[in-house]
Amino acid sequence: MSPNVVNTIVANELCIGCGICTGICPQNALSMKFNECGEYNPYLEKDCLERCELCLHICPFHDNNENENVLGTSLFNNTKDIKYLSETGYYLDSFVGYSLDFRQNSASGGMATWLLTTLLRNNFVDYVITVTAHNNPDKLFQYTIFNDENSILTSSGSVYYPVEMSQVIKSILDKPGRYAIVGLPCFLKGVRLAAQENKKLNERITVTVGFVCGQMKSKHYTTYLSTLANAGGRLQKVNYRGKSPDKPASNFYFHCINKYGDEGKIFWNDGMAEAWVNRWFTPNACNFCDDVFAELADVTFMDAWLPEYSSDSKGTNLAIVRKPFINDLILKGSKKKQININKIPIKKVIESQQGVIDFKQRSLSYRLNLAKKNGLKAPIKRVEMSNKINLFKKQEIKVKCKMQNASKEIFIANYEDNVFNIGIFRNGMKMCLNKIKNKKLSMRFFTCVFFVHRQLKKILR
Ligand SMILES: Cc1cc2nc3c(=O)[nH]c(=O)nc-3n(C[C@H](O)[C@H](O)[C@H](O)COP(=O)(O)OP(=O)(O)OC[C@H]3O[C@@H](n4cnc5c(N)ncnc54)[C@H](O)[C@@H]3O)c2cc1C
Repeated sequence: MSPNVVNTIVANELCIGCGICTGICPQNALSMKFNECGEYNPYLEKDCLERCELCLHICPFHDNNENENVLGTSLFNNTKDIKYLSETGYYLDSFVGYSLDFRQNSASGGMATWLLTTLLRNNFVDYVITVTAHNNPDKLFQYTIFNDENSILTSSGSVYYPVEMSQVIKSILDKPGRYAIVGLPCFLKGVRLAAQENKKLNERITVTVGFVCGQMKSKHYTTYLSTLANAGGRLQKVNYRGKSPDKPASNFYFHCINKYGDEGKIFWNDGMAEAWVNRWFTPNACNFCDDVFAELADVTFMDAWLPEYSSDSKGTNLAIVRKPFINDLILKGSKKKQININKIPIKKVIESQQGVIDFKQRSLSYRLNLAKKNGLKAPIKRVEMSNKINLFKKQEIKVKCKMQNASKEIFIANYEDNVFNIGIFRNGMKMCLNKIKNKKLSMRFFTCVFFVHRQLKKILR
């Protein structure tokens, strides 16, 4: 059989589960299903066309496809006054602010919801495609198409759960119109690659709204959080970004209701952060993504993780704009007092995502190196593989990769019939956490010894 996403991308654990391949396949040969790690993958339902390979040409993690620099240049380079930085990709302007109407129910400042409703109200698009709750315990969220403002409001909030685009791509191909679509960096790369291959997608997807992404999570992350919050089992309802008036925006909470009506709530600082920062339940493909700021989106929203804003419990956005008409809409929205927004230097935007940049961009070459050393396939990226990184960072990355894999294996071994043995899981993960702690301590010790040795040498000289 000729190469396809299943035998080339999925087989090498490089699939992010965006589902665009499945939506665009001319033979309808693919379907999207959860694998045992709780991540979406395409499955071959019947033979595909010999030498078609369309699924590979649009895959964001396939080697031969154009990278974000090339795609970004063809999308934005001709825009008047556009600028470029390696961290952010192309940018026209950057803003900080929030929506006056949608802030409370949104993930950060509600700017994404404001822009999507504004696009529809002002007839820039006919449809808006967002991620919404699905009320199905086996598939809690999905991509959905809307053509009314009120429905868009139901999709406010960030979803740290797998979603895939196959059905909405099929709908766009079936139904003419102008569509705005939201997406994480790798999903929008897939959308842009697909638009190059398919005229209908190119004409109909007229606005792309991106989000900064630190990493994606498998569905097991949600099972873990709900069990940690004492409301495990089959879930009815989940909110990942609750806001408390007495807490800073950065200490948001996860809230869920299971099928027995039990409610669970857990704050970022009390358990969510541990699983997030240590990359538990993160897909392998995320290890090879260096697009922090959704470089191919017309506009990118993120949290204002800067001390002057994150202390405000209500949440604040930063935005990078790449299309002039979105700049105009933002300035008009501000004049009409729909949004409270100010310009902010791009370097502050970069500063707000320093941790994500360090991991995704600065240590990617080492992760590529590590993959090769471990005999694993990694895609070709904008940087070469390299071993040149400080010893402590090396150790930290190694342990985090180990934790990422261990979280999947230990979860699978301790989950049966919707019951998850979180005690055994946490004990297993503790061993990895202790390794990080010990490595940190020994690094500190060696740094001290090195410092004292240098000082002594100076004195003796
Ligand atoms: C997996 C993930 C990781 C993220 N990592 C970071 C990060 O490291 N740093 C940072 O500053 N910001 C990150 N964000 C973005 C941040 O959480 C907010 O989405 C962003 O600030 C927009 O906030 P808002 O209040 O304007 O959005 P809202 O007004 O609440 O609107 C949110 C929009 O996002 C859409 N959406 C929700 N979940 C998803 C999803 N999984 N995929 C695609 N669209 C979705 C919704 O449909 C809705 O339209 C991440 C988001 C996600 C989903």
